[in-house]
Amino acid sequence: MRLSTAGLDPCVHCGFCLQSCPTYIATGDEADSPRGRIVLMQSFGRGEIAGTDDRLAHHLQRCLGCLACESACPSGVEYGPALEAVRAELAKTRTIPIFVRLVLAVMAEARIRRPLLAASRLLRPLARLLAGRSKVGFQFGMLAATRMRLTVPQEPPSAAPAVQDARRRNDGGTRQAVVFRGCIMEGLFSHVNDATERTLRVNGFAVAAVPQQGCCGALHVHAGLTEPAKALARCNVRAFAEHPNAAIAVNSAGCGAALKRYGHLLAGDPLEDEALRFAGRVEDIHEMLAAAGPRRGAPLAMTVAVDPPCHLQHAQHIVDEPHALLGAVPDLACLSPADADHCCGSAGVFSVLERQLSRQVLARKLDTLTPLAPNAIVTGNPGCVMQIGAGMLAAGRTEPVLFPVELLDLSYRRAGYYDATTPPGG
Ligand code: SF4
Ligand code: SF4
Repeated sequence: MRLSTAGLDPCVHCGFCLQSCPTYIATGDEADSPRGRIVLMQSFGRGEIAGTDDRLAHHLQRCLGCLACESACPSGVEYGPALEAVRAELAKTRTIPIFVRLVLAVMAEARIRRPLLAASRLLRPLARLLAGRSKVGFQFGMLAATRMRLTVPQEPPSAAPAVQDARRRNDGGTRQAVVFRGCIMEGLFSHVNDATERTLRVNGFAVAAVPQQGCCGALHVHAGLTEPAKALARCNVRAFAEHPNAAIAVNSAGCGAALKRYGHLLAGDPLEDEALRFAGRVEDIHEMLAAAGPRRGAPLAMTVAVDPPCHLQHAQHIVDEPHALLGAVPDLACLSPADADHCCGSAGVFSVLERQLSRQVLARKLDTLTPLAPNAIVTGNPGCVMQIGAGMLAAGRTEPVLFPVELLDLSYRRAGYYDATTPPGG
């Protein structure tokens, strides 16, 4: 049976998407463009190119999966689902690099992942010292970027009278929420998960814990490893069924995009109906807090560059909500880089597998971010934080890269929304 690439059929090869594609901009090769990849995938779907064809695999591996081409396309081409389907088909016959299999196996298995990531956290100070431009230096930079400190001068109390009037206890509320804590997010960014829970409570959510949850499987889907991804999806669907009326809050764009597609991933599975209900409960944290208000915090007199992750703006079509969230922080100036709709070159294991191309894409991103001279960069995805953070450190820059919710959390802390026993956040 031939693979269906029907979502690509509306393509009229107009080329409007070419200048939205970071890999085409970097290489100038039509086969590294959406239009070129669509032709390759359609030929594969018709059986005109074999799955063993190295050119097909090479150019599809060099796709970031950023979906900027979908946003740019006037014909409604569904590039993402076709890419996933073709990669899954290729994974059946082609060898997936051992490094990729190893990383994905570790992410899927909590008993291995947790101690490894705990050890990685201990290495952060060393990583900060060794961060640099070389291959190894960049990897250290990625680890160092997982916890970067922000220094913001404290406003005098008189500067925020409205906020002081609004102080209230952090009692939670009546709308129920559970936080998706993920694998990398929990191992290297648990401070962001904690900030997510605190800011939800301040905005009227009662937050419950889901201890049996695990990796979302997004990286497995991107690599074409559908069966391991399905196994992870089933675990999460069952784990979150304990709180059937709670919204599932997600602070990682990549995880959120994957979780919202669990109904598609488990189509035909005995858990399909539960997966559809699960996917319907998934909400990005920026969506949730923007819809809730959000409550104003204390001033943070600083400038941030807001770089939206591809899996937020292109995959989930969430663009304004991060700005609405940051709008709850008085005196915070938010700037957008000129190419805010372009990928940073992270894309999961892409930055390791396609190192040179990834750095080329990152260089363009940094060229638009650094002239803004921000005090910090904010972006809502762990891969983007690590990629941009490592790039900044390699360039000798010290501005931290943070999640938007970390700034809201700091603002709330200064506003007095948390009591003295709440542990320090980001
Ligand atoms: S994907 Fe869309 S924008 Fe790109 S060539 Fe095809 S029709 Fe044109
Ligand atoms: S998903 Fe991104 S990298 Fe891949 S073809 Fe589309 S725009 Fe280019």
